Amino acid sequence: MRLDTPTLLLVTVIVTFMVGTLFLLSWGQDRKARSLAIWGIAHITGAVASGLLSLRGTIPDAVSVGLANTLMIGAYGLIWSGVRAFEGRPLRLGLALSGGALWGVLCLVPEFYASLAARVILASAIAGAFCFAGAYEIWRGRGEPLVSRYPATILLGAYGLVYVVRIPLALLTPLPTNQNLMQSAWLAILCFAGMLFTVAIAFTFMALTKERIERVQRLAADTDPLTGVASRRALVSAAQALLAEPERPVTLLLFDLDHFKSINDAHGHMIGDGVLVGFCCVVRALLPPDALFGRMGGEEFACVLPDRDVEVALRYAALIRAAVARLAVPDLPELSVSVSIGAAGSRAFGQDLDTLLREADAALYRAKRNGRNRVEVSAARRAA
Ligand code: GH3
Ligand code: MG
Ligand code: MG
Repeated sequence: MRLDTPTLLLVTVIVTFMVGTLFLLSWGQDRKARSLAIWGIAHITGAVASGLLSLRGTIPDAVSVGLANTLMIGAYGLIWSGVRAFEGRPLRLGLALSGGALWGVLCLVPEFYASLAARVILASAIAGAFCFAGAYEIWRGRGEPLVSRYPATILLGAYGLVYVVRIPLALLTPLPTNQNLMQSAWLAILCFAGMLFTVAIAFTFMALTKERIERVQRLAADTDPLTGVASRRALVSAAQALLAEPERPVTLLLFDLDHFKSINDAHGHMIGDGVLVGFCCVVRALLPPDALFGRMGGEEFACVLPDRDVEVALRYAALIRAAVARLAVPDLPELSVSVSIGAAGSRAFGQDLDTLLREADAALYRAKRNGRNRVEVSAARRAA
């Protein structure tokens, strides 16, 4: 295979510029995603730098060497800064741009500028360091599970390694001079690797951005916005997954706050909201960590207790009922809160969620009829 450096450089300039423009267009649709803007500027800066590098010999060296490499190193700094923006950390733009600036200023020192090896080593060390730092930032944020974190970390790390390898090579192998630069094999290899890197990193950064948006939307759909507990949709799907395991006894508890309408009527909707939040805090504090708990709608909630028979679940229900009855707001002494609870177990009714919901609802209805602020278990279970 023959790699033609001028062609590669031209393709690199065009592809990098297009990728940068795409990043900026995506940012235009979501101005809060600052990482997209920074990555866009980084790629366009890289495209300009590649363009200037490709004009070596036809424009003054101060531009095709000094300015071009200053911009190129700056672009790596911006990639790192964009990753920090993506991770919600301070951008550190000053530090991001200082690497390129340092290299550019050193070029004004004749001894440094005269040594091609010194220029290559410093440029490689700074660009490699930004790649490694970017890889580290993405890996550090893995608490937010996004699949593309792994290819992004590997890509940035691998490209950092390419630069590290370039350092001993600059000392051990003869470096091309201005005259034979365009025929140099390792400039061709660097161009080729650089272009592949640009395209691959752009794909993974775009994928990371998209995966985050999807994750935020999924989490929002799975969470009740007022109380922060699972939404009905999330609870039902988690409960169904649990019930699909045939040998696990499961007990369902249904909760309905008593006379909640009168709390709203007497104290206002905001206080009603506060009671719902307080209720969820109490319940979550008392339930075991493996319990599924969510809001079915309005002032109705449900809990699925895995691996618990009705007897054990009733003990949790009794604790919750008593704790909710003690809920108090110091400024509103006349506000009283209570909850009615209905229970149904899978040992009596099988592993079908609809059946369990129907039975628990019947028990809840009986709790209401029998005076509220109490726990009832499904009739069939009582008869058993
Ligand atoms: P019962 O003891 O029979 O359950 O009586 P209740 O008043 O609790 O039941 P009802 O179904 O008559 O009223 C439920 C009330 O819950 C009506 C509705 O306005 C209120 N509600 C539903 N969702 C919310 C909410 O998100 N915030 C507030 N503040 N109120 C809500
Ligand atoms: Mg209700
Ligand atoms: Mg109610």
